[in-house]
Amino acid sequence: MSEIPYFVNLQQAIDICNKTGIQTMVERVGLDECHGRILATDLPSLVNDPPFDNSAMDGFAMRYEDTTNPPTNLNVIGTIQAAGQEDNISLKAGEAVRIMTGAPMPNGADAILQIELTSMEGNVVTLQQEGMKNFIRRTGENLKQGDVALQAGTHLTPSKVGLCATMGYSSLPVVKKLKVAIISTGDELKQPGDELNRGEIYESNSFGLSGLVRWLGHEPTRLQCIGDTLEDIRNTLNEVSKTHDLILTSGGVSMGEWDFVRKIMEEEGDLHFWRIKLRPGSPPLFGIWNGTPIFGLPGNPVSSHVVFRMLVAPWIRNATSADGPIEAKSFAKLATKVKPTKDSLTLRRVSIENNGLELIAHQKIHQGSGNLASIAHSDAFLILQPGKQYSIGDTVEVMFV
Ligand code: AMP
Ligand code: MG
Repeated sequence: MSEIPYFVNLQQAIDICNKTGIQTMVERVGLDECHGRILATDLPSLVNDPPFDNSAMDGFAMRYEDTTNPPTNLNVIGTIQAAGQEDNISLKAGEAVRIMTGAPMPNGADAILQIELTSMEGNVVTLQQEGMKNFIRRTGENLKQGDVALQAGTHLTPSKVGLCATMGYSSLPVVKKLKVAIISTGDELKQPGDELNRGEIYESNSFGLSGLVRWLGHEPTRLQCIGDTLEDIRNTLNEVSKTHDLILTSGGVSMGEWDFVRKIMEEEGDLHFWRIKLRPGSPPLFGIWNGTPIFGLPGNPVSSHVVFRMLVAPWIRNATSADGPIEAKSFAKLATKVKPTKDSLTLRRVSIENNGLELIAHQKIHQGSGNLASIAHSDAFLILQPGKQYSIGDTVEVMFV
């Protein structure tokens, strides 16, 4: 046990975890199923965007040189009625074409004037000002065919999925979802919906952790919770390590006699570290069980959430070379006194007020690590550096919940 790193800081813990990689696979998935997934290869555009010069305005197309002395009267020789319609109209001196937003520019035209600045009488349009050259969207001005618009590792947000469609892709190569087993341990745990006996509580960690795994674009398996026995834990770990890429346990990693996840990892697993300088969330461990990486997360619900966000998520992103999803962070001014801890990075849960000039952080809620409402009812975590003293009015980094 003595050579296993103990009570390391968060960065050391991340560095230790990052020495363990994961074999990722690639699959091709229809675009509709790509939201929240990780792009597996660089993606060159299959087309120019836009594919042809087109009008950015609903109005008229004409030759700029005909419009330099407004008001100007031009003969309207036709209409390009719908975006996408190509009538191959050619326009000469003194002529204009009625054009819709997104419709291809007629040959010979090099300016647009929006409808609001024109009036029509019979076949003659009067332009109140010069035509606008910058109301033409040029072929390939957004993207050139062959340009790599998205790189391997991109976390596919809605706008990026839309961009893939613009580039002509109906399906994408994405990183296959990691199969993540989530095992809650504790004799006192009952499934929500069952009747509680004295001393029992509802099991909540696996539900929250499962949502966090999905948020990262992977596939959780929430197992039935298991009791505090070495045998149950051993059997379950043996089983899931055959079928999963990653194991998350919760509970049983503290110093106590009943903390069997820690015990079994010390005695039978390959333990890479135990305990980190993070509050809440100091007890976790990381190691390998039968070839499968395993995080032993603390049982306290706030702690298991924080450890996932601060340690497990960075490792999963790194192991899958993913650039997201990223945590939303900012800075806020303290409105209430907050207590850091001497040697640990400390996350306090706060409400954030925006006064129009800056963000203000209020610590309103009981900060116990068993109080899941402290996250659910807060806007952000304050990130307090170990040993540093903070006063009202100080500006502190926040990570939004
Ligand atoms: P442990 O880490 O096993 O010592 O658990 C610490 C605290 O978290 C205890 O109060 C447990 O009852 C509670 N706890 C452990 N696992 C869970 C869970 N899956 N859901 C909710 N609370 C839990
Ligand atoms: Mg326990």
